[in-house]
Amino acid sequence: MEQQLNSRIISRGKEFFGSISGEKPSLFNKGAWMGKVMDWSMQNEQFKIQMFRFVDVFPTLTNGRLLTDHIREYFGEEKDMPPFLSTGARVAGMFGSLGGAVLGKAISANIQEMARQFIVGENTREAVKNLEKLRREGFAAVVDVLGEATLSEKEAEEYVATYLELLESLQKEQEKWDGLAGKGGDRRLDWGHAPKVNIAVKPTALFCLANPQDFEGSVAAIMARMERILLKTMELGGFLCIDMESYRHKEIILEVYRRLRLKHRDYPHLGIVLQAYLKDNDKDLAELLAWGRKNGVQLSVRLVKGAYWDYETVKAMQNDWEIPVWTIKAESDAAFERQARMILENHDICHFACASHNIRTISSVLETARELGVPEDRYEFQVLYGMAEPVRKGILKVAGRVRLYCPYGDMVPGMGYLVRRLLENTANESFLRQSFAEDAQVERLLEDPQMTAERERSTRDGKPKRERPGVGGLPPFENMTMVDFTRADHRAAFPKAIAEVRGRLGRTYPLHIGGTEIITKDVIPTVNPAKPSEVLGQICQAGISEVEQAIAAAKAAFPAWRDTAPEKRAEYLMKAAEIARRRIFELSAWQVLEIGKQWDQAYADVAEAIDFLEYYAREMIRYGKPQRVGHAPGELNHYFYEPKGLAAIIAPWNFPLAISMGMASAAIVTGNPVVFKPSAITGIIGHQLAEIFGEAGLPAGVFNFTPGRGSVMGDYLVDHPDISLIAFTGSMEVGLRIVERAARVHQGQPNVKKIIAEMGGKNAVIIDDDADLDEAVPHVLYSAFGFQGQKCSACSRLIVLDAVYDRFMERLLAMARATTVGPAEDPAHYMGAVADDKAMKSILEYIEIGSKEGKVLYMSPTPEGEGYWVPMTIIGDIRPEHRLAQEEVFGPVLAVMRAKDFDQAIEWANSTRFALTGGIFSRSPEHIARARRDFRVGNLYINRNNTGALVERQPFGGARMSGVGTKAGGPDYLLHFMDPRVFTENTMRRGFAPVEADDDWVI
Ligand SMILES: Cc1cc2nc3c(=O)[nH]c(=O)nc-3n(C[C@H](O)[C@H](O)[C@H](O)COP(=O)(O)OP(=O)(O)OC[C@H]3O[C@@H](n4cnc5c(N)ncnc54)[C@H](O)[C@@H]3O)c2cc1C
Repeated sequence: MEQQLNSRIISRGKEFFGSISGEKPSLFNKGAWMGKVMDWSMQNEQFKIQMFRFVDVFPTLTNGRLLTDHIREYFGEEKDMPPFLSTGARVAGMFGSLGGAVLGKAISANIQEMARQFIVGENTREAVKNLEKLRREGFAAVVDVLGEATLSEKEAEEYVATYLELLESLQKEQEKWDGLAGKGGDRRLDWGHAPKVNIAVKPTALFCLANPQDFEGSVAAIMARMERILLKTMELGGFLCIDMESYRHKEIILEVYRRLRLKHRDYPHLGIVLQAYLKDNDKDLAELLAWGRKNGVQLSVRLVKGAYWDYETVKAMQNDWEIPVWTIKAESDAAFERQARMILENHDICHFACASHNIRTISSVLETARELGVPEDRYEFQVLYGMAEPVRKGILKVAGRVRLYCPYGDMVPGMGYLVRRLLENTANESFLRQSFAEDAQVERLLEDPQMTAERERSTRDGKPKRERPGVGGLPPFENMTMVDFTRADHRAAFPKAIAEVRGRLGRTYPLHIGGTEIITKDVIPTVNPAKPSEVLGQICQAGISEVEQAIAAAKAAFPAWRDTAPEKRAEYLMKAAEIARRRIFELSAWQVLEIGKQWDQAYADVAEAIDFLEYYAREMIRYGKPQRVGHAPGELNHYFYEPKGLAAIIAPWNFPLAISMGMASAAIVTGNPVVFKPSAITGIIGHQLAEIFGEAGLPAGVFNFTPGRGSVMGDYLVDHPDISLIAFTGSMEVGLRIVERAARVHQGQPNVKKIIAEMGGKNAVIIDDDADLDEAVPHVLYSAFGFQGQKCSACSRLIVLDAVYDRFMERLLAMARATTVGPAEDPAHYMGAVADDKAMKSILEYIEIGSKEGKVLYMSPTPEGEGYWVPMTIIGDIRPEHRLAQEEVFGPVLAVMRAKDFDQAIEWANSTRFALTGGIFSRSPEHIARARRDFRVGNLYINRNNTGALVERQPFGGARMSGVGTKAGGPDYLLHFMDPRVFTENTMRRGFAPVEADDDWVI
């Protein structure tokens, strides 16, 4: 930054600080309850977590018992609480204590008071009254309607209606308001140039299924509702600003703005928020300005730093995406100054709203605008209502144009907003905290952020990186990066890959046995389940003689493969992973067509296959090193593993690449040659294993591809005496049949067969009485109906506590109604076709059974014409003994049960033969702990969907009738494919024993 300008900014900042010296924002006033909460939170991280989580759950604590239980669970007994939490109650107690009830009342009153600090009113009347009060103090406002997350069309419509009603009231009120004083010429407007009515709208509240995967559908749906609000705003000459939310929706929001801007090109008062903390923002802003200039439209940008910093960093790290935000606070500050300048330089086409509470940032905008000679009507300042009162007063003094961002509405969504504000203000990096709670040096607070950023970058670069050790010289295992539909290239890749794959339909896929391709006369077509007349390919079928050939080839390959070094075997898997990574969009496209997976589900399947390859490669290197056991001198004991023998891999169609690859690669890397039988309906995807392992150069006979009819070769393969291990994933009936048949020892059989079976599930999700419904509803819908509910992990029983049943179900059903069923290749559809006609028939029968046992609450429409369509179905009034609560349906049918309390919910959740996955939505620490102990499933998920286990992070598998207790993608899995051996050598010769480093020895 130019030195002189920086000096002027610093003097302006000092002047600013001088003008407000001695004043504190009410947030940090330790005399009040909120100030005490802030003070404790800043000193004690654990208290901060508990307090903010409590504020979050608070609106659901609608009776005395819930309230007192949660106070105890979050803060302990009264004696353990910070004094200010319980003081009110103690004082009240002196006049006759009612115990927890008094404490509850005191805390409730204080939290509500705290929320009121940031919310201009709970209803329109209250809001308008307070807005008038603010106007009398000289402040303009931008009004925002608080809302719960929008989960249905109905909720989106209600949100629009609230805005229309608000605008209606403001239309009348504004007639009575004098314009705020300013230098502009029009006395009817604020400051002589700005509309008196100014609203902000959260775009995702206008469409519950906003999702970058369905970019066009999301833009169109948001735009339609936004336009209705805009038209009303235009009617009263108001200003509408489109708020910016999380990064996931940024491109959608920008597109909505551009389209609306063009459509109503002559109306100047339409703005958008841009976030300086985004690394993309320099480019986004430059492009928007260039676009505005090219199209000859007026723009308005409110520049903020951004409100979702923690969320964005955590989400990106969880998905291995590049972190979209700057990670050094001063980088966001510097970006803000840079971008503010860019807007001010373009003030002829872009109006600027500087939204910050940071005195350095504000001073920089003031001085830059002055240097560039920007007219006053081209920029203004905005701050949040309830925060930084001294700052807003200070700006009013120097600039005169301050607008307060005023949320109004219900307490429930208000609490979410409150938590965000509390987090923002207690963050170590917060300018307000540093200025008013920690009294940091003014010089440091006003330093050029570019310099601060450079200094901090070099300190960070100098620090040693935290490295996780890998095995065998490999980098440590990382899950495959998730598909990122915020990226235009990822969005474009799917239609492109699907079109390419369509150009290759109709091929014949041979068997692969002992390194040779074999074409059989017997072939089975595989088809697109959304359009069965579309034949994708012909799959050659192995009969008994081909199975014999495959077993012979595997047997021949076994000795050499067994004796191949584990590192070498692992290398083949790493090569295979590389090949699959290169082909990831193509492989995903095949899944969309052959089994009807939605884009994201298809990509996740291929990514999981890659994860298995990478993970098991490393696991084998780890197990491949003999382990010394015991420490007695003069004796060497080595514990090590060897493969069991020939492996039959029998795979399902629902994760046609991931599960197949997982089971096959585990067998291969541990040294067991494989005879692989894919599912008949996903033969092309099955063949991809042969292609990938072939290209990876796996020796002949180690992987044999033998698709075939179960009735012809299924039992034959299982019974074969040369098969030593069977890895199976599929239904309980088939799994148990394999277990039973494999127990029989046949003539010439050298080994007792080992079975690794992952079978069904009847997975329950519990909705507790304090659950966050904004989170629970979409997660349950996704867990139950993602990929048409055809996952063994899918939620098929929903147990809702009586206290929240009506509200939860109303929202769940409304969200279900917003979704559509149709071909998976079109990302607008939430659900696609089911696997085949057999599955369709069986699911429809279960819907019939369920509709007799309970009451159908929802059954979606399905497309006309061909395709294996089954409606999204939700059936209520189900009891634990019903068939719909006991039998696996494996399709989009959700059985709903109403439980009287949490104990009953847990009892019902455990009341089936299965134990695969489960979930609970709860904010009660005690209930979460209870579920951890008593909800007996293989994979239990708290406050998230109960599908989508990731390799290494959530090793997957169940017990009881869900499987034999193995965990795919976990640290023990490979052990099931090997036998341990021990080698013991007496190292003492003639009384002399070599000393090993870890011997127990005479000291
Ligand atoms: C009128 C108004 C409207 C708003 N509308 C929106 C909106 O539509 N969308 C939205 O997202 N936000 C919005 N905000 C919220 C706004 O993003 C935050 O209030 C703002 O970021 C706080 O910045 P500051 O300059 O006041 O404070 P400062 O304390 O100077 O900055 C805090 C900000 O720095 C950033 N930050 C924190 N830690 C780091 C780090 N380690 N590395 C990099 N950056 C970091 C974060 O953005 C954080 O919020 C709005 C704010 C106002 C005043």
